Amino acid sequence: MRTGAEKKSTCDIRNYELIKMIQAYSLYEGSFSVDASKVFVPFDPAKDDPLSRKGSLFVHVHPFLIVAEDGLILCDAGLGFRDESGELLIHQNIRKLGYTPKDVKYVLMSHLHKDHTGGMVDFKDGVARIAFPNAEYYVQREEWMYAFSGENPSYKAEIFDVIQRSGNLVLLEGDGQINHQISYEVNGAHTPYHQAFHIRVGGEHYFFGGDVLPEPEEIFKNFIAKYDYDGRKARDLRKEYWEQGREEDWVYLFYHSKSIAIGKAEKREDGTFKIVDVASK
Ligand SMILES: [Zn+2]
Repeated sequence: MRTGAEKKSTCDIRNYELIKMIQAYSLYEGSFSVDASKVFVPFDPAKDDPLSRKGSLFVHVHPFLIVAEDGLILCDAGLGFRDESGELLIHQNIRKLGYTPKDVKYVLMSHLHKDHTGGMVDFKDGVARIAFPNAEYYVQREEWMYAFSGENPSYKAEIFDVIQRSGNLVLLEGDGQINHQISYEVNGAHTPYHQAFHIRVGGEHYFFGGDVLPEPEEIFKNFIAKYDYDGRKARDLRKEYWEQGREEDWVYLFYHSKSIAIGKAEKREDGTFKIVDVASK
């Protein structure tokens, strides 16, 4: 028979192993308020008063880094904000994890709205450079055509020329596989050619749903968002992703989360499910 103390230590070891295997990291860029002008203004909940940003939505931004054997995988690239020294926050966050931007081999783009693309390019000292020189940037072709040709304020047009000239751009068509670890599928809903990624690394199945599944709370709210291209479809897809992912033990990456950015489904005693935080601390 086990004593209480032994039981506790077995449980701690199990939890430790579960967390240790998660090889995805949030590169949290910050929280922002956005009004009708679509300009993102940094917002610090500890210092700033939300009432001073009337008519604004509050948005949290988490690009993700997945550490795979053959190079780092980046899921979307953030707004492109910088620290006081002028370094891109996304670069700084990668360095804090012990890597450099040159170690990134795959940049997976769900879509090209500016809160996802600002960090694809580094505009330091008036010179525009590709932010991840050793990476291929994977973009859905129709999303690229739409973003490149449009005058839509949701897109940041000045980055597209830099990316096109870089030689790092790979245009994807429809659904498919990048390598044995990464597959993509056009799920639309947020933009007409938005795509989601499934990444299988270190025995885990990571799911990056981009802005079709940007926050864990949206799984439990049956709602249609105004900002989606096809809100009904987005709502239905969220339900499918949750049902399939909880069966298959996916690790969800929530790009705009205020709470849990990297989560898994966990069954409660009554048979219902909740999301739990599985990020390495
Ligand atoms: Zn977004």
